[in-house]
Amino acid sequence: MSSSPSSAATVLLADQVLTMDQQGTIHAPGAVTIEGAIIRAVGPPPERPSNRIIDLRGSVLLPGLVNAHTHTPMWIFRGLTEDVPRGEWLNGRLLPLERRLDADDLRRGALAGCLELLQNGVTTIADRYGHMDAVATAVEASGLRAVVGHSLFDRTAESDLAHAERLIDRLGTDPGRSRVWAGLAPHATDTCGPNLLRRVRRLADRTGARVFIHLAQSEAEVATVVARGAPGCASYLDAFGLLAPDVVAAHAIYLSHEEADLVGRRGTAVAHCPSSNAKLEGRVAPIARMRRAGAVVGLGTDAACCNNGMDLFAEMKVAGLLNKVGTADPAEFPTLDILRAATSEAARALGIDHLVGTLEPGKRADVIAVRTRGAHLMPWHDAVANLVYAARGSDVVATYVDGQPLLREGQPVDLDAERILADAAQVARGLADARA
Ligand SMILES: [Zn+2]
Repeated sequence: MSSSPSSAATVLLADQVLTMDQQGTIHAPGAVTIEGAIIRAVGPPPERPSNRIIDLRGSVLLPGLVNAHTHTPMWIFRGLTEDVPRGEWLNGRLLPLERRLDADDLRRGALAGCLELLQNGVTTIADRYGHMDAVATAVEASGLRAVVGHSLFDRTAESDLAHAERLIDRLGTDPGRSRVWAGLAPHATDTCGPNLLRRVRRLADRTGARVFIHLAQSEAEVATVVARGAPGCASYLDAFGLLAPDVVAAHAIYLSHEEADLVGRRGTAVAHCPSSNAKLEGRVAPIARMRRAGAVVGLGTDAACCNNGMDLFAEMKVAGLLNKVGTADPAEFPTLDILRAATSEAARALGIDHLVGTLEPGKRADVIAVRTRGAHLMPWHDAVANLVYAARGSDVVATYVDGQPLLREGQPVDLDAERILADAAQVARGLADARA
């Protein structure tokens, strides 16, 4: 394959290109040249353009956002679990709703969730839930890049593991070979006992699957693990070799200093979901401490009912504000680090930084364009700060995955948004009616 752009290439032209590469290179004005699924060139606009030009001036190009933790089918539950006392959300409020839905309901919810994500400039997701066979078909149809995991619980371990292995057989575990691939998704440290976690570690080693788990997300989870004789949720996972660079731990709220340091020391990836943690637990995870100790931190929106949106722009702002509050330090979590946590570092957390997360020649052409003009966006002095603190998901005008346009002028290219939303809203209405 030629490394110089050919006549089949497409040039995206914009006011600025934020590469998010190691040096933080910005080209203004700038261009990204795409050939097939691959980025061929990034730099100033070509002087004598011989390729097809897509004029995105009035916007900035950056890598598609990477959402390190979400549950797309839970789009259905938005607005059904508000202001719940700590400790009651999961079993008291969510489980009764979940029991009413079948695989096809979840597939329909997932498609609406994916639509919301791609409209907000998210191009890669780490998605996990039940009935993941069905959910994965929606994720595949959406055009998003995704790792999908079927949730594993002690009480249904045999059938859950069989489901997970089916998913691995169908999708593989290699993000370089398939746009949607499979991970392993034990639910949490309280709902997964030693036997199941040992099997997960062995299965991950055998298949190369990355492991996704909720860690220390509630006080009840910590109490369960302590009752099993572990000092805390992180040490408990560590005993099974599941604090490691191939493990993505979501939330990581209730950790002692020693446990937060241990998460970092093992090079564990952490999916930081600040809105969800604030909403469901009234807490901020010890992210600064884990980052200092070596954790790779990516941002996650979590589900639509924990947030109440799947907008990583909103999440970046919340992450900045809450970490400043949590550490009582206004200099904590600088803007460039936050934008990296939604792009290059999130890609590293998912083990796909060789493919996406920056705009560099040879990488997959996952690119978004965000408008720079508007009362809430101007003046545009500091692109990084504006993207983190001023921009909204609705400012995304174009989204490309593997060089394919998924969103053009803010509208989905292939997905029938009206039908998808009507379909999923019908499931949601049924739930709300049954609850009333
Ligand atoms: Zn979650």
